[in-house]
Amino acid sequence: MRVSSPRMAALLLTGGRVVDPANRLDAKTDVLISEGKITAVGADAAKKAPRDAERMAVDGLVVCPGLIDLHVHLREPGQTSKETLATGTAAAARGGFTSVVCMPNTSPAIDNAGTVALIRERAVQQGIVNVFVTGAISKNIAGEELAPIGGLKRAGIVAITDDGHCVQNNDLMRRACEYAKMFDLPVMDHCQDYSLVTDGVMHEGYWSTVLGLRGWPSAGEEVIVARNILLAELTGAKIHCQHLSAAGSVALLREAKKRGVPISGEACPHHFTLTDAAVAGSEKFWASDGKTLLTLNPQLSTLNWPSYDANFKMNPPLRSARDREAVLEGLADGTIEILCSDHAPHCDYEKEVEFDYAPFGITGLETELALSLMQIVHAKRISLPDLIAKFTVNPARLLNLNKGTLSAGADADVTVFDPDREWIFEHAATASKSANSPFFGWKLKGKAVATIVGGKKVWAENSELVAA
Ligand SMILES: [Zn+2]
Repeated sequence: MRVSSPRMAALLLTGGRVVDPANRLDAKTDVLISEGKITAVGADAAKKAPRDAERMAVDGLVVCPGLIDLHVHLREPGQTSKETLATGTAAAARGGFTSVVCMPNTSPAIDNAGTVALIRERAVQQGIVNVFVTGAISKNIAGEELAPIGGLKRAGIVAITDDGHCVQNNDLMRRACEYAKMFDLPVMDHCQDYSLVTDGVMHEGYWSTVLGLRGWPSAGEEVIVARNILLAELTGAKIHCQHLSAAGSVALLREAKKRGVPISGEACPHHFTLTDAAVAGSEKFWASDGKTLLTLNPQLSTLNWPSYDANFKMNPPLRSARDREAVLEGLADGTIEILCSDHAPHCDYEKEVEFDYAPFGITGLETELALSLMQIVHAKRISLPDLIAKFTVNPARLLNLNKGTLSAGADADVTVFDPDREWIFEHAATASKSANSPFFGWKLKGKAVATIVGGKKVWAENSELVAA
């Protein structure tokens, strides 16, 4: 339910496990919010609270800086049958996200200052969480001519990317990096070499052969990750590789970071939960790569889906068990510093076609926290604070956002979640305008309970949490 209470004067969250990686804090304590800012964290928060402060008992729950998803398709302008700023940000709030970064592959593309201004204005009017905007690298995301990067920066973008596409011309990409560095903008790249990938629809390997589908080889990603490492080194620009899916990409990134190259990467839950075997149907998946998931979550074996289900079609594609393991290792050792959803809504009628013809992408804002907790924290790969850092301080640092911390004086963007709550992702409960998720019906573990943006509760699972 959306809680539309007026802006409250003060809010005291009591007794939660407060985890703020930016301040290396992990303690059972209180958080005081007033006038939209964090006022105090710690034992004295309750003492400082005005008598009329609203109190929210959050014992047993985690309180952390508002989660940031730096890779979201909100589909405005032009594709509002898939998602809108209102529905996309509602899905974000429900998933525990207080800030999202929207991608520019809209219709028209976000490649000029006017469109940036339009989205920022509409986001304030219609969005319930913070929306940060990225601008295109190239005009109309065509990969031929640079977009006006300086003008985009002045209009308020936080990064440039041609996401959904990839600049193939290395010289154009070099110029983009040089401009981006001049304007202190990171360059985010969807790594896909067109000559290697051509019209591939799933990972090139055993299952693409069995299923008779055209393959999208790992090298199609790795070649561009390597290109980006070289260009980051050459230009000094910060390049961020989006939705890494292949083992070779992780290895390249690990080696480059050791040398101090300004390169970074992100991973999405579908790539470290599922594999290409899922495209062959649930029976094949649970009998092969799904086994390791089942040891942690035996209840999942009851889930069924057919072969060639287009909700398992994304770009980059689901890869092999070895790639999935490499992405998890990259997350565990810090090679991959950022988690995100690549939330990519599409209408039912678009996805309900043959696998070959369906668009790439799935929704993800409402399931990414749970899937990340399950695969990374509950599976004991990294600690809870390290996971929270990948959703807060790390994306904030990459994009120079004044977010991702509970420091006194910071914007009161706060997420309250229960890391152990078991729940089922129901079709009827999604706030997104689209329902192209492979995770409907999954029994997940970990759930947002309240989402606070600028001191205001924009979503809460249960209004009874708000004690008088
Ligand atoms: Zn992409």
